[in-house]
Amino acid sequence: MDPEKVALLKDGFRGEIILPGEPKYSEVAAGMFNQMFIDRKPAIMCRPLGAADISKAVKWAAENQLKVVPRSGGHGGSGLASCDGGMLIDLALMKGITYDPSTGNATVQSGCRLSDIDYELLPYNRAVPIGTVGITGIGGLALHGGYGLLTKSYGLTVDNILQVEIVTGTGEILIANEKQNTDLFWAVRGAGSNVGIVTNFVFKTHQMPPTVYGGLVVQPALNLVDFQNKWAAKIYNDPNYNSFNYHLAPPDGPECGLVARLACQFGDQEKAEKEVEDLISHAPKAMFGYKHQPFNLINQTTTGFFMKAPATRQYWKAMNFPAWTPELSVAFNDLFAEIRASPKYGPYSLLVTEYWNSTKVAVKRDMPMNILQPMFVIVILLGWQDPTLDTEAKQYSEKLVSRFDALGNIREQTYFNYSPEDNAEYSLGKKNLDRLLAIKQKYDPKNLLCQGSLKKRKFGPQQHA
Ligand SMILES: Cc1cc2nc3c(=O)[nH]c(=O)nc-3n(C[C@H](O)[C@H](O)[C@H](O)COP(=O)(O)OP(=O)(O)OC[C@H]3O[C@@H](n4cnc5c(N)ncnc54)[C@H](O)[C@@H]3O)c2cc1C
Repeated sequence: MDPEKVALLKDGFRGEIILPGEPKYSEVAAGMFNQMFIDRKPAIMCRPLGAADISKAVKWAAENQLKVVPRSGGHGGSGLASCDGGMLIDLALMKGITYDPSTGNATVQSGCRLSDIDYELLPYNRAVPIGTVGITGIGGLALHGGYGLLTKSYGLTVDNILQVEIVTGTGEILIANEKQNTDLFWAVRGAGSNVGIVTNFVFKTHQMPPTVYGGLVVQPALNLVDFQNKWAAKIYNDPNYNSFNYHLAPPDGPECGLVARLACQFGDQEKAEKEVEDLISHAPKAMFGYKHQPFNLINQTTTGFFMKAPATRQYWKAMNFPAWTPELSVAFNDLFAEIRASPKYGPYSLLVTEYWNSTKVAVKRDMPMNILQPMFVIVILLGWQDPTLDTEAKQYSEKLVSRFDALGNIREQTYFNYSPEDNAEYSLGKKNLDRLLAIKQKYDPKNLLCQGSLKKRKFGPQQHA
């Protein structure tokens, strides 16, 4: 990198500029959850402190024919927030959050992790629907969806974005909301990673009761078919209840593996206590973690577990079903049995079952976030540690998924954050693509942001490294 050109970027830049060979370079470049991407080597990294820094960096990257890759938490499964060559814009220093009691809205800078948001809103008994693993970044999660324990009541994170401040691919700093730059606001909610770098979000927050009954119960994965059938019936029928199940097979766990349910029950608290009785009678050795506590603490229950989990290489894939059927429970049970018995994948993988029902808000969802119907979701987070398994693991994962096609897997409604390698037609909606490409042409004509969810669409000439 030409030192004179770098000096031009550094002049007045408030944040950090990090070049190959400098002390922080390796640590920042490696800041990815999926170990497959920790060796990528950006040509230059910026850690901005605000929109002006980002604007300056984007304009500089354009002049120097470098692609621009934003990173919030680095949790995206397919490594789109890392790059070889190019400019990595790591938003980790931008962690400001302010809550405005007069509007009930929170302004959140895009380097925040989810735990930052729950923590800052806790004193106000307010919450935004976000995911449940606190170390996940808000940027990728919010721009492409954001499922969590509040989704049933208040939709996905993306449904709660009221405004963004964004630096476009031309380096312009814009506000986008329902009144200003409405085309950009539409595109951002589902496809934001293709049109600019969001510097902050204004989110609608929701009042939480002082405490709700919920938490985590971990137990041996016994009678999984029955367990899943009962869970599906309960979650489908009770609008105030939300939960999901992690299935894992740690080396020191029982042979049948473990199932961990994170749950919370709004409304009638007796129902929550009844569910706990059912869970405990199902597996008397359950490690019981439910209590009456603030929602924001329930939401962060599993964060510590993920912080201590072994680092793994991963391939993410999710399947979506319009209904949960007994056949699905059987197929799921077989899937878990196969994965947990595998020495290569068993100790490092995670299967998740979720119910996404945001029908209350999805009817109004005019955005390229293409999840419109309620659905049960099975996430296969295939993990491994041996790099020689990379190709095999991907093929194995695709094979596992194809077994579920006959059971109604809706491929046309794909969640980008869980299946980032799927076709953009599925995650952004076929009907939205032409409109999106026109908006991209306007706000990122040089396609500097070429690693977003439209990555696989042909878009103009590649004008950068
Ligand atoms: C442990 C774990 C738990 C998870 N739990 C949940 C969950 O409960 N619910 C759920 O819905 N999802 C969950 N996910 C999936 C998660 O939503 C995605 O991995 C998401 O992409 C993570 O966001 P991030 O900012 O950390 O990602 P990054 O890898 O930093 O970014 C992902 C993509 O978004 C782009 N991007 C990031 N920030 C910006 C920005 N400010 N402006 C423009 N583009 C940007 C990046 O360039 C990249 O293309 C989880 C993932 C992990 C690893």
